[in-house]
Amino acid sequence: MEETIIMNEGALQVPYNVIIPYIEGDGVGPEITSVMKNVVESAVKKAYGETKHITWKEILAGGKAKDITGTYLPEETLEAIKQYKVAIKGPLTTPVGKGIRSLNVTLRQTLDLYVCLRPVSYYQGVPSPVKHPENVDMVVFRENTEDIYAGIEWESGSEEVKKVIAFLSEEMQVNKIRFPETSALGIKPVSIEGSERLIRSAISYALEHNRRNVTLVHKGNIMKFTEGGFRKWGYELAKREFSATEDKDGTVRIEREGRDSLVIQDCICDAFLQNILLKPEAYDVVATLNLNGDYVSDALAAEVGGIGIAPGANINYESGFAIFEATHGTAPDIAGKNIVNPLSLVLSAQMMLSYLGWDEAALLVAQVVQKAIKDGMVTSDFARLMETEGKACTKLGTKEFGSYLVSLL
Ligand code: NAD
Repeated sequence: MEETIIMNEGALQVPYNVIIPYIEGDGVGPEITSVMKNVVESAVKKAYGETKHITWKEILAGGKAKDITGTYLPEETLEAIKQYKVAIKGPLTTPVGKGIRSLNVTLRQTLDLYVCLRPVSYYQGVPSPVKHPENVDMVVFRENTEDIYAGIEWESGSEEVKKVIAFLSEEMQVNKIRFPETSALGIKPVSIEGSERLIRSAISYALEHNRRNVTLVHKGNIMKFTEGGFRKWGYELAKREFSATEDKDGTVRIEREGRDSLVIQDCICDAFLQNILLKPEAYDVVATLNLNGDYVSDALAAEVGGIGIAPGANINYESGFAIFEATHGTAPDIAGKNIVNPLSLVLSAQMMLSYLGWDEAALLVAQVVQKAIKDGMVTSDFARLMETEGKACTKLGTKEFGSYLVSLL
């Protein structure tokens, strides 16, 4: 009998027969979802025989939801994720500058999924624009609920923006708005609680997974109270909750028995974006604000093979709610052509298996992905680049690539 996941004293309790809701997604969503489900089912079967099992439950969002229910994000979808706690989704269309708000942002905010988790590591053989992609091995914790992404903004010329500009200039004596008549405005909220829970998750993760350092990435030199606050509260939290101490040279460390201490450091975001190209080996776990995190995650993903392979998740470690997702968009230009690379969603499912504590199945998924790439059995996006680099490979359609992964299991 299937059961639901429950949260017990801060830990997930996962039944052996678990129901996982999934959103197929728009565009290439159905193609990659089908591959992901087959690979996960095979890995779970191989790892646990009949002992453990996933029952998939389709829930609707995006274009399919609109067609069937008349709304892009039905209430039942949110209720199902709350009930079953862990879900996985394909990409959803977001119209630019008009129409509905991003469904992804709505899901993150409604379920308070404050961590956007993006592991970035290199699979041998993946085409990469950098000389030593094998030196990139980071886990990005991007804050997901605050910052300029909170969606508090007013259009240029609107009554609302005029009111806010009048308030700023008359009551707050702000005279730094260069063109007050035509400015649009956005607000950047960054709180102590919001920063602390994100940084706490990153440090806890680093300790649990034996990582070397946690870097707080910020633009505190310019935005002193918001981004500077994030940096300051991060160090304070490390000292208060994790007993971090500061050496004479200013290095902040958390001591660990039997191994090197965990270093807590910080870096200004523009320098960080340079450093991940010049010396990626210097960084390990990264904790950053929402907008920086967006740029940093994509830049790092590009170093190890790009969006076709980059996995991701949105998590609230307190409630246990988590949505694992393909990090790329709906790729309308290639939808329905059986050429999309399904690895972003497959590797997100691998993260999901780890999150459920089903590590044996997660390891199998990682191993077959590694083997397929090493064997040069890849989809056309990788094949094109691998051929350019003179590596032998076989170009497979999405379905055929999925079947190859399953055959390796
Ligand atoms: P996109 O990621 O869909 O596509 C960018 C380019 O990369 C395209 O040429 C596409 O063919 C290619 N591509 C993307 N994923 C691929 C894969 N797995 N395999 C091979 N090639 C791949 O970005 P876009 O075109 O800017 O956005 C299209 C739509 O997706 C928009 O509506 C956007 O809002 C939405 N979007 C959704 C999400 C999400 O749901 N998480 C994320 C980003 C964009």
